[in-house]
Amino acid sequence: MAAVVRESWALVEPRAHELATTFYRLLFEHAPQARTLFPVDLPPHRSRLLPALVHVLQRVDRPRELSPILAQLGRDHRKFGIAATHYETVGVALLGAVEQLLGAAWTAEVADAWAAAYSVVSARMLAGAAAGNGPASWLGRVVDHHRLSWDLAVISVQALEPIPYRAGQYLSIETPHRPRLWRYLSPANPPRPDGLLQFHVRAVAGGLVSPALVAHTRVDDVWRLGPPMGGLPLDAESRRDLLLVAGGTGAAPIKAIVTQLAVQGGPRRTHVFVGGRTWIDLYAVPSLTALAHRSPWLDVVPAVEHNAGEAEHGAVGDVVGRHGPWTDHDVIVAGSPDMIRATVARLVTAGTPPDRIRHDPLLTDRAA
Ligand SMILES: Cc1cc2nc3c(=O)[nH]c(=O)nc-3n(C[C@H](O)[C@H](O)[C@H](O)COP(=O)(O)OP(=O)(O)OC[C@H]3O[C@@H](n4cnc5c(N)ncnc54)[C@H](O)[C@@H]3O)c2cc1C
Repeated sequence: MAAVVRESWALVEPRAHELATTFYRLLFEHAPQARTLFPVDLPPHRSRLLPALVHVLQRVDRPRELSPILAQLGRDHRKFGIAATHYETVGVALLGAVEQLLGAAWTAEVADAWAAAYSVVSARMLAGAAAGNGPASWLGRVVDHHRLSWDLAVISVQALEPIPYRAGQYLSIETPHRPRLWRYLSPANPPRPDGLLQFHVRAVAGGLVSPALVAHTRVDDVWRLGPPMGGLPLDAESRRDLLLVAGGTGAAPIKAIVTQLAVQGGPRRTHVFVGGRTWIDLYAVPSLTALAHRSPWLDVVPAVEHNAGEAEHGAVGDVVGRHGPWTDHDVIVAGSPDMIRATVARLVTAGTPPDRIRHDPLLTDRAA
């Protein structure tokens, strides 16, 4: 089923803009009220719904990898107030759009494969939504915003109710500056009794949300935050040493995990590698290094691709590889999809068992 979806998607992919336009036309014809869920001026090809859907539909043959993600996505989508009928409407619009673009290539076999894949995905998301307890979203007030550079800001948000996340997880957020455009951010601190969350935000050139977050966020802005997601949190049962690898704003969840370890007394030997293109990208290194000076269980290695100075030179995955082997470690990798792929490939080639390596799903880009 997934193979047929992948093969037929390869025929449609070069016309992704046209597919997006057709999909939203059909969606709003079937369900005009669904318009209220999307920003009025969002061009169809900039919406993330369609690429995310196609991404998961092509992977329905990997249930171990996909099921927890779909359950979390279903739980997360409760914040839109959507019901089972919305899933049906989206399915009808998606299959209708692919059918229109494929023309004669939309055979009975292809139609069955897309319908079966979509019903697997929607059933798992609906089950996740049904199992979700607790609020569908929380409110938080910005209490601090400072820019570390022209494209990087640290934003502190005071949750009005405690959000039950774990160090290493991420949340979707919506700001008043970009209503109805939700983006994932990873708190850089473990949960605190006062409910404060600190986010590191990189402005992505041409992005709809991140430049506004960096440039226009103001103290007292009220954000909505979705349920915690992601599988980076530490395996509490494991006693293996830890290797934590961060690229760009992937430093945020890694910093949260290291802070959590320090609170627990740092029982596990931990190596942290933080990579960036230049020194400016290593904004998290000074605080991690300060912690390492007080913590005999912690080593921090900065890695820089250009003008390394005193840092290790090269892409962080390569630097990690040079310091190996890491065959007996639990590994967590956080960063852009390219950085994650390169680092995981390097580790697996050098003998780290793949099931000991965790990273977030490669659904959408994390700023490098
Ligand atoms: C698990 C996870 C955790 C994350 N944590 C963080 C974090 O802690 N901090 C952080 O800063 N970010 C984080 N991110 C990334 C964040 O969620 C956003 O993806 C990022 O900020 C970009 O959003 P945006 O709205 O600015 O850009 P978007 O509008 O989504 O655009 C992204 C890029 O794609 C280009 N683009 C989009 N659509 C098109 C198109 N149709 N044609 C051509 N180009 C296009 C844009 O020009 C831009 O360069 C995380 C992502 C994930 C998946």
